[in-house]
Amino acid sequence: MGFGKINIMPDSEGFYGNYGGQFVPNELKKEFQKIAETFLNCIKEKEFNDELNDLLENYAGRPSPVYYAKNLSAKYNCGIYLKREDLNHTGAHKINHSLGEALLAKRMGKSKLIAETGAGQHGVAIATAAAITGLECDIYMGEIDIVKEKPNVERMKILGANIVPVSDGTKTLKEAVDASFNAYLKEYNTAMYAIGSAVGPYPFPMIIEYFQSVIGREAREQFLKQAGKLPDCIIACVGGGSNAIGLFSGFIEDESVDIYGVEPLGRSSAAGDNAASMNFGKDGIIHGFKCKVLQDADGKITNAYSVASGLDYPGVGPKHCYLAEIGRVKYDVIDDNEAINAFYELSKAEGIIPALESSHAVAYGLKLAKTGKYKDMLINLSGRGDKDIEFVLSKFNC
Ligand SMILES: *Cc1c(COP(=O)(O)O)cnc(C)c1O
Repeated sequence: MGFGKINIMPDSEGFYGNYGGQFVPNELKKEFQKIAETFLNCIKEKEFNDELNDLLENYAGRPSPVYYAKNLSAKYNCGIYLKREDLNHTGAHKINHSLGEALLAKRMGKSKLIAETGAGQHGVAIATAAAITGLECDIYMGEIDIVKEKPNVERMKILGANIVPVSDGTKTLKEAVDASFNAYLKEYNTAMYAIGSAVGPYPFPMIIEYFQSVIGREAREQFLKQAGKLPDCIIACVGGGSNAIGLFSGFIEDESVDIYGVEPLGRSSAAGDNAASMNFGKDGIIHGFKCKVLQDADGKITNAYSVASGLDYPGVGPKHCYLAEIGRVKYDVIDDNEAINAFYELSKAEGIIPALESSHAVAYGLKLAKTGKYKDMLINLSGRGDKDIEFVLSKFNC
């Protein structure tokens, strides 16, 4: 095969190949430059990394295990291994970058984290990181989401976060992003914008990838130790792409390892029925960076949909667009029903209830296992499914 040299870091303008960059007001460019410089200095410092590693290990519970799913492996005649990010404190991989972002904010002398949230998963992880690091926390959330996601709203309040209701437009995530960004524009001297995935203008995709790369580093070592070899393929679900880029980063230079990103096909391939930006998007700019964006013929961004609310973003991290373009990673899709079936199958076979987001990666792994193409595979179980139980039972009881 041979992929040639893969650019791990973005270029000086923040691009990975044709994707990424920084499409923001000039006054923010200066601040983002400061964030980039502080970040690049911090990660070279023993003190910063020691503090981060201490939180990851003793607070978040890392390393998360790699588990050999023996019942599924026997059923599919394929070695199926799961990276158990669901076992992290707060139940998903999001705590990895949230802790990193909080430490970075402290290092920059900021007193507050600003973030938006849709279903509330990102909000809970950021509120948690703010609590442990002693930062204030403003979470912007659409009024409709506040009603829909009551348990997460209550969690964030208990954790000490300030919930700012957003009443504009559809009163959901899209408007919450705009509101939090506008607040950040006014407060950036004292606050840090805590992004929720490997998206956004430079330097955020680079920062999130670094903080999530712990998944891939651990997984590669754990897999080698257990299986005595590398996996033949690795699989992760892709919303904005943070859990995926974290896993992929550990294996990107291993040419023998095939890499798959799994996007939500939702109800269908029609516009508005899915959130598969890598598969159906076109080059465009969203929230300050260039990537594959779901859009209509006139370039208007279309609504994203998935049964897994953590996957329904109409853009995707720029590094993923680059990795697709150079042919290193294949991005494919799984629909709602396949994800729900995998949710039940993993629960019943292994006693592990996966998040609906992670269920997309599981479903794809099982599909690949059936082809007989691979002897051993590693699937990133990005989060646990407790948050989804009520919804799944109400819609898909089986
Ligand atoms: C938020 C979330 C995702 C999607 O986000 P990425 O940035 O694409 O990783 C996936 N799985 C779980 C459990 C999540 O909470």
